[in-house]
Amino acid sequence: MNTLDIIVPVYNEEDCLDEIVSRLDKVRNNLSDRLDVSFLFVNDGSKDSSFDILKRFSEENSYVKVINFSRNFGHQIAVTAGIENSNADYIAIIDADLQDPPELIVDMYNKSLEGFDIVYGKRKKRQNETAFKKVTAFGFYRVLNGLCNLEIPADTGDFRLITKKVADVLKSMPEHNRFIRGMVPWVGFKSAPIEFDRDERFAGETHYPLKAMLKLAGNGIFSFSLKPLQAIYYLSLFMFLFAIAALIRLNMLTFAIFFAASVQLLGLGFAGSYIGRIYDEAKHRPLYIIKDKYNI
Ligand code: UDP
Ligand code: MG
Repeated sequence: MNTLDIIVPVYNEEDCLDEIVSRLDKVRNNLSDRLDVSFLFVNDGSKDSSFDILKRFSEENSYVKVINFSRNFGHQIAVTAGIENSNADYIAIIDADLQDPPELIVDMYNKSLEGFDIVYGKRKKRQNETAFKKVTAFGFYRVLNGLCNLEIPADTGDFRLITKKVADVLKSMPEHNRFIRGMVPWVGFKSAPIEFDRDERFAGETHYPLKAMLKLAGNGIFSFSLKPLQAIYYLSLFMFLFAIAALIRLNMLTFAIFFAASVQLLGLGFAGSYIGRIYDEAKHRPLYIIKDKYNI
């Protein structure tokens, strides 16, 4: 029988874990005649009792696997560790907070049988998320697609099902600044969306404050596009036009000086973003450190 691993990154989700396991259990039963389903929780350095709860689950059921990180490495890295430690024929990735409905995994699997190697969840509407998050997310996916020569589906998180073929390619991509929802389409293969309404968090609070969102957005843009770097040429041309205008009208001079300085700093910032990423890669550090594994 084919196998399916459901990967769940976990950071301080003690109040969600009972619920997600019981809902994933239903999915598992639903698929039991067709798939051998396991859950693979990656505890990303939780500071609450998440790990103890997960460990207990793994002792009670051999199909609950747990990877325990040595510290918090971040959501994208946790998902990566799940993929790298799975050998299953199918892998599903889902958040622990039940914003992504687990039941959809069954639909994703059925859809994949029509010949798709990637079936991703596409968000129809975001309930109870702040207007700010909705607007920034909307803008971000559109800017990203404008900048990258890559079709990154809009309104899509990491909630998806992939086949082993896709997972094997992802395992060969060791980049440190990871943006999985961009890496998966980069791999290619046939993909299909399944639409769903994103629920509210079951409990707890988001771990993606503005700072984490900006970091992820930066990875999306700077890891997939050289356009910001190339834009510096256009900015310099623009500056040159300003210089000529300043020659003609002297009182523009002060403005032109400040403007020139800001454009130069912008260019330096773009260049710095790439150099920082080169530095990260050059260190060749492991992506994550596993303290212990259960049932793996
Ligand atoms: N998460 C993680 N490591 C982190 C932050 C988050 O493993 O450093 C997990 C978290 O437990 C959840 C998923 O990643 O399962 C998505 O996080 P969250 O729900 O906070 O993000 P949001 O849905 O608000 O974008
Ligand atoms: Mg969430």
